[in-house]
Amino acid sequence: MTEMPHINSGGCVDQPILRERGQHEVFCGLTSIIWLHRKMQDAFFLVVGSRTCAHLLQSAAGVMIFAEPRFATAILEETDLAGLADAQDELDREVARLLARRPDIRQLFLVGSCPSEVIKLDLARAAERLTEAHAPHVRVLSWSGSGIETTFTEGEDACLAAMVPGLPRGDSSNLLVVGALPDVVEDQARRLLADLGIAQVDWLPARRSDAAPQVGPNTRFILSQPFLGDTYAALERRGARPIAAPMPFGEEGTTAWLASIAQEFDIGPEHFARVTEAPRERARAAVARATETLAGKRIFFFPDSQLEIPLARFLARECAMEPVEVGSPFIHRQITAPDLALVPEGTPLSEGQDVDLQLDRLRAAAPDLTVCGLGLANPLEAEGLTTKWAIELVFTPVHFYEQAGDLAELFARPLRRKAALHLSPN
Ligand code: SF4
Repeated sequence: MTEMPHINSGGCVDQPILRERGQHEVFCGLTSIIWLHRKMQDAFFLVVGSRTCAHLLQSAAGVMIFAEPRFATAILEETDLAGLADAQDELDREVARLLARRPDIRQLFLVGSCPSEVIKLDLARAAERLTEAHAPHVRVLSWSGSGIETTFTEGEDACLAAMVPGLPRGDSSNLLVVGALPDVVEDQARRLLADLGIAQVDWLPARRSDAAPQVGPNTRFILSQPFLGDTYAALERRGARPIAAPMPFGEEGTTAWLASIAQEFDIGPEHFARVTEAPRERARAAVARATETLAGKRIFFFPDSQLEIPLARFLARECAMEPVEVGSPFIHRQITAPDLALVPEGTPLSEGQDVDLQLDRLRAAAPDLTVCGLGLANPLEAEGLTTKWAIELVFTPVHFYEQAGDLAELFARPLRRKAALHLSPN
């Protein structure tokens, strides 16, 4: 089959983690709407926030925010309860107008923000009330994308976790893959899982609400992204059983991820090898091209996407890079254990951020490549460091065999560019 499914010890699993709680530099959870709205074709995300929230989304993705964020802006100046009651009425009116104009909407997400949280606007109650008002045509759910203590990938986690209680119950056996991936990547994974012989594969989120997966005691689920801790817990509460695996990045990660599923569904090693042999070979060859640039280079991760630990594992084991610090906004031990087990022992790990202290460590380490947010990248480049924007890693298709080479290339490109700049005469 494969060499290393279900490894939950060794590597960095039991290693102490440096925990920091200070100023941090990350996008907020509203950013997730940029990829979620593309994935769920009959959903609408109504942000209840301020003009800052609208600007964030409009400038980041050109997303059309229907709700004028006047609720939050107006209410911040009105601290009395009467103001809140007005806000609820206004929200009802906006939603009614939106749904009358857009009969294609079947799922409506009310997305909370810093302003709506600060004034304690109860969006969960609003969602219940609006679901009653617009059932059965539309289901209204709420989640928070607030930037207070959250990072940008947590928006997806909050959204998917909000969907779990409403998923249909069922007793039949199915595999549920969790995480919003581009359709083309999801289709590749579906083909691999079908070739392995897994009869019923569902995805959360589904592309359309009428394809929502059933969940019950015979559902086994596996994450395709490491940042879905709340969704993981919500699925366990519904009786579904998790499958532990490294994240499907690179040839090794994808093989281990599939092998964990194969083991759970009693798929024999010969059949597994037959199905995976050719794509494994393609992935290895594609990664090898980038490894010529990456091998021996030192990499430093600032905490941004929560993809840092699986990526450090991929870059260390498949591209021969040396991670000199792997920072992550949150480290969910249970979910990341299979990846942590494969990160080289002794790699410094940090959780949370105190940006000034981390910048001191970065400068002392002087790595070849720094993965960080947009706000830090430009000043660090000005200091002579080579950087990679963390947010690109969630906007680019990077999962499974066929994307393994592209994933490695994302890290090789800035290093090649820097080398070319140094070579060019001026
Ligand atoms: Fe800014 Fe908060 Fe709105 Fe995000 S939710 S854009 S952090 S105000």
